[in-house]
Amino acid sequence: MTRIIDGKSVARGLRKRIAEEVTSQYRPEEAPGLATVLVGDDPASATYVASKRRAVAEVGMRDLHRHLEADASQEEIGEVLDGLAEDPSVDGILLQLPLPPGLDIAALVDRIPASKDVDGLTTTSAGLLARGLRGLRPCTPSGVISLLEEEGVPLEGAGVVVVGRSELVGKPMAQLLLQRNATVTIAHSRTRDLEAVTSAADILVVAAGAPGLIGREHVKRGAVVMDVGIHRADTGLVGDVRADEVLGVAERLTPVPGGVGPMTIAVLLENALRAAQWSR
Ligand code: NAD
Repeated sequence: MTRIIDGKSVARGLRKRIAEEVTSQYRPEEAPGLATVLVGDDPASATYVASKRRAVAEVGMRDLHRHLEADASQEEIGEVLDGLAEDPSVDGILLQLPLPPGLDIAALVDRIPASKDVDGLTTTSAGLLARGLRGLRPCTPSGVISLLEEEGVPLEGAGVVVVGRSELVGKPMAQLLLQRNATVTIAHSRTRDLEAVTSAADILVVAAGAPGLIGREHVKRGAVVMDVGIHRADTGLVGDVRADEVLGVAERLTPVPGGVGPMTIAVLLENALRAAQWSR
């Protein structure tokens, strides 16, 4: 029997704890303030930002949203980010990605000071993570760690394979696992024999952005499988793992939807709270 990891329930618990901390530590007008910055009107980005803003309000934080026109220039966006960076009433800044074509995303992200980098995506935040120093960590990989800890899955010494090496998920995921003394292997699109690599894993974290990439043959019996992938299919949302095949082989599995996904916004809120606590 494979245990299905209930990310929705863990995320709900985390949001409740954050709301309690916010209301017990801050008056409403002084609550942590999170600035979401949306450039343009991409419908998917607008939906993501709307759910982040709802979540911010629900835990009693201050929603400091900024919306810029789709034709905003690199300099205009940079100036908005600089203004938020200098504003002491802003604790966290989130630049919603992707941006309209033609903009230098990395340069804009790096205008956000590490102390307000609630997405954990700036070069400084990546450096702090690599060095094991205090800092804000990328939300999705942090959410995977929280789920594993909540499930009581031992990480120390465990053989973990991370499929994917993006700045957003794969690389920080590997760093966070390494810090917890896991034995980490990173597989990616140039890995020669993916099946041989993944089928040795005690814990398999899949963030390849390739629907159904991982099937029964890739999973060791009794492994824990964390599926980060999200794809819209005719049948609804699906992940990078063929869940129907892995059921009965894995010891535990995150479903899509309802697994890793709900943790991302919960960790974003946690980061905003930490940013406020560390800076005031
Ligand atoms: P990405 O496209 O930036 O990176 C994908 C990585 O997977 C690359 O490093 C690539 O080398 C590797 N890869 C691709 N195809 C492969 C293959 N066939 N075999 C082995 N490795 C392969 O994607 P990302 O931003 O890291 O996101 C990965 C997935 O996670 C996407 O489906 C994305 O939608 C999802 N995601 C979910 C959340 C969430 O909140 N749950 C957050 C971020 C990303």
